[in-house]
Amino acid sequence: MLRIVSFTFNGFAENTYLLIDEATRATAIVDPGMYSAAEQQKLRAYIADNKLEVKYLLNTHAHIDHVLGNAFVLRTYPGVPFWLHALDLPTLRAVGTYAGPYGFPAYEGAEPTGELAAGQVIALGESELQVRFAPGHAPGHVVLYDAAGGQLIGGDVLFKDSVGRTDLPGGDHATLIQSIVSELLTLPDATVVHSGHGPATTIGAERRSNPFLT
Ligand SMILES: [Zn+2]
Repeated sequence: MLRIVSFTFNGFAENTYLLIDEATRATAIVDPGMYSAAEQQKLRAYIADNKLEVKYLLNTHAHIDHVLGNAFVLRTYPGVPFWLHALDLPTLRAVGTYAGPYGFPAYEGAEPTGELAAGQVIALGESELQVRFAPGHAPGHVVLYDAAGGQLIGGDVLFKDSVGRTDLPGGDHATLIQSIVSELLTLPDATVVHSGHGPATTIGAERRSNPFLT
């Protein structure tokens, strides 16, 4: 079973996730938003206290609030593979150009060591994550689906009663809605969606009442 633990970090109230395979403690860090030393320490302490073994650093997409902690993770857990969809590489590389004006002058960039791609299956201990390509909020946005556990790391694609903004570079509203319809609403209603901001929801709840999807 995959246990999902969330932290809310940085001025954008971004949700950082630990995906923990309970049988082996193999762990993926997804969208590390830590910026302050206190935030960094909070994540590091949780991993140490729970004896987790960090196996992957994954980004659903590369907007600044989701990538602030990438360099810290790679420094703290040397050699951990860092994967992002290739179409979000320009998004990632642009962060350094606006981090200062956005209030994050200490931002430190990091380059992925590999790619996430549609249909890829990531083994995490005895658990598996399916990579689903869901552009629209960002050009290379992916979501991570734990079919056995009925849960999804949704990034900034779908929120409780809302959807991702599409006014940032590479964003497109029609593409986003098409991604939600084809890659998210095709999942079972009971699937829990852990979003990049705000509370968790379910596919069923959003199918029924999300104002952007009716
Ligand atoms: Zn975003």
